[in-house]
Amino acid sequence: MKDQYDNKTTDWVDVNKPKYIETELGREKLCIQCGEYWPLDDEFWFTYSGKLKKDGTKSTCYEAACKSCYYIRYKPQRLQRPKKAIRSYYEKGGAA
Ligand SMILES: [Zn+2]
Repeated sequence: MKDQYDNKTTDWVDVNKPKYIETELGREKLCIQCGEYWPLDDEFWFTYSGKLKKDGTKSTCYEAACKSCYYIRYKPQRLQRPKKAIRSYYEKGGAA
C-alpha cells in the first residue's frame, strides 16, 4: 500500500494528461517516464505486435515509455557500466 506521505513513487506522470494527442503532424503519445509527447513512430517508441485483427494483419502496439526512457524504467541494470567492476577490482588491490 502506498503511504500518503510518499511522494517519490508515481504510477503515472499526470493522470489528467491524455495518453494520445492529435497534432498537425499526426498523433503523438505520452511517455509515462518523462511525461513528454512523442510522434507515434518506431523511431521514438519500441513496438510489439498486438492481437491479430480480422483482416489477418497484426496491430502495432507501443511501449508505455519512449525509447530514451525505456531502459531507465524497465532495465535499469543495463545502464551500469562494465568499467565500474574493473575499477573496483583495482581499488580493492590498492587499498590493502
Ligand atoms: Zn520518455
